[in-house]
Amino acid sequence: MKHLSLFLAFFIIISCNKKQQNKDDTVNFITDAPLEAQKKEPAKPEETEIWKPKPLIVNPYKKNGVPSDAIILFDGQNFDAWISSKDSTEVKWILNTDGSMTVKDKTGDIQTKKNFGSIQLHIEWKSSKENTATGQNRSNSGLFLQNRYEVQVLDNNANDTYVNGQVGSVYKQSIPLVNASVATGEWNSYDIIYHSPIFDKSGIKTQSATITVLHNGVLIQDHFEIKGTTEYIGFPKNESHGDAPLKLQDHYDNSRVSYRNIWLREL
Ligand code: MG
Repeated sequence: MKHLSLFLAFFIIISCNKKQQNKDDTVNFITDAPLEAQKKEPAKPEETEIWKPKPLIVNPYKKNGVPSDAIILFDGQNFDAWISSKDSTEVKWILNTDGSMTVKDKTGDIQTKKNFGSIQLHIEWKSSKENTATGQNRSNSGLFLQNRYEVQVLDNNANDTYVNGQVGSVYKQSIPLVNASVATGEWNSYDIIYHSPIFDKSGIKTQSATITVLHNGVLIQDHFEIKGTTEYIGFPKNESHGDAPLKLQDHYDNSRVSYRNIWLREL
């Protein structure tokens, strides 16, 4: 009797393993070959199920809405992740007590210490009620992906400017689909999906960077192919580059733009 129980237990373990194996076997049933090239159309639902690799589990709201796999670049505590762009010294911008930072006029752009390639970026920014200049001089700042490609930050509320340089434009290249700004002095958010360009060994660009931007949750750039650097004057340039910092702009006109809650996920 004892032997029979042992045999049964052994049999159950073996058949469970076999079942698991069969499940794993279905993983590779669907190949990269076009459907029409596959010999026989799958006839059972299991044949088109894929079980691995499993996507990593991410907590989307780990801390203040920041996903658990994000790199926090600024949470209001310090400028540890940043340096001054012009001389790599410490940041001279203003660290506010409400968890934000404000551009300190004429101290120059700031950029991350770390270099990045393709990213998902979240950043919040606020124009200044005190800034009553017109056109491009009203709360102008911007974020430069890979230190080169500017998404415009500007207070366009009752303030006209050229549309390929307005808020949410890829500067001088792509007019935003809409202007989704909140009232002057309130916090805006940009959520950006950016894929870096690809260059071959000789330095020729073989694939353009692409960018998708949500402004306060509203789609304003829809997988736009970036033509090259976002120049104030002249054509976009396409010199080969690798990973590079994220840069925030000091427009040298007392913009008083503020930023907060900056994080990204590397793609
Ligand atoms: Mg700008």
